[in-house]
Amino acid sequence: MKEIRLKIKNRFLKRYNKGYPLILKEAVQNIDNLKEEGQIIQLVDDKNRFIAKGYYGLQNKGCGWVLTSNEKEKINDTFFHKRLLKAISFRGKFYSDENTTAFRVFNGEGDGIGGFTIDYFDGYYLINWYSKGIYRFKDYVIDILKNLSDCKGIYEKRRFDAQGKFINEDSFVWGEEAPEPLIVKENGVNFAIYLNEGAMVGVFLDQREVRKKIRDKYARGKNVLNTFSYTGAFSIFAAIGGAKKTTSVDLANRSIPKTIEHFSLNGIDYETQDIIVEDVFHYFKYAQKKQLKFDLVILDPPSFAKSKKIRFSAAKDYKDLLKSTINITEKEGIIVASTNCASFDMKKFKGFIEKAFEEMGKKYEILEEYRLPQDFRTIKEFKEGNYLKVVFIKVKK
Ligand code: SAH
Repeated sequence: MKEIRLKIKNRFLKRYNKGYPLILKEAVQNIDNLKEEGQIIQLVDDKNRFIAKGYYGLQNKGCGWVLTSNEKEKINDTFFHKRLLKAISFRGKFYSDENTTAFRVFNGEGDGIGGFTIDYFDGYYLINWYSKGIYRFKDYVIDILKNLSDCKGIYEKRRFDAQGKFINEDSFVWGEEAPEPLIVKENGVNFAIYLNEGAMVGVFLDQREVRKKIRDKYARGKNVLNTFSYTGAFSIFAAIGGAKKTTSVDLANRSIPKTIEHFSLNGIDYETQDIIVEDVFHYFKYAQKKQLKFDLVILDPPSFAKSKKIRFSAAKDYKDLLKSTINITEKEGIIVASTNCASFDMKKFKGFIEKAFEEMGKKYEILEEYRLPQDFRTIKEFKEGNYLKVVFIKVKK
């Protein structure tokens, strides 16, 4: 395939020379040269000097990814093979851990090829494709996975279409179909995974270390509130860690059967726990009116949420969410504040925390901080790739 030359605007040169991997529309002079997703791009300066090579692929952010700064390197099966095997060998300690059988094997640009990720679920590989451009290379990736000795089956999710929406269709690609549910382990705890049920498979692997810490250090004897609880993963870890009781709140009806399933899979009687389908913002008002107080509150909202009454954006509204949380947290209680919003950094997130406590006239202490775990590999040239920010906050008087 012919390589298309794109001129980088002068004010963006420094960034790309330093290894910034995302190709931004606004950084390119002759964007109209791009015709077909999957085309190989050469980034050059205004004197046509080579900077880097990448591919054209439209995602919600950017129009492609840099793949190499070596002009001679070819983007072919060997290229994909090398990067994938390197990523797999980097996860050696995950593959050999019998207590954790679900982890990320390939994390896009963090592993040298932006636009797709691969997760491992006890012998099954799930690929997420984020653009038509990268999907053009799918056979390279699938061929490599097929040949891994432990690969039982391959699934994929195409997170793009003409409108950039998720395509909800059968996602089985190759091999043996996984049982439904597929039971995996995370630090000894069982999770039910559904590889063929839409975009979300049942658990967010990036919170592994946070769940473990809650179980091992913060849950014992505590009255725990888990908001935006999805399938109850945090509640399960808290219950196993000896919580007095957990209350899970999520807007989606599916959260009841899914959370019950997770409790049951781990030998916990779900009837001793509360699972509530409700708008979290509404639940906060109710809890305040009833003067309910919790020792440990887990806050893990989506970056954007829309319900009948409420429109939530983490970047705008996290501070207010924290203020409502402070209202229903016991003195000396703990708030686990988490966000996966890539549009602000840890410093700004801590700014929201500071403001929320200041406006409530309360003091606090930060006890722990978490970012993405090791298998969600990131690179320093792309800070926004390390999107996860979790802060354990102790509420003081
Ligand atoms: N904390 C979860 C993941 C949260 S995913 C975990 O670690 O597994 C986001 C969840 O927020 C979804 O399950 C969605 O149904 C829920 N949600 C979105 N808006 C909501 C709202 N206003 N009130 C309650 N839940 C909401």
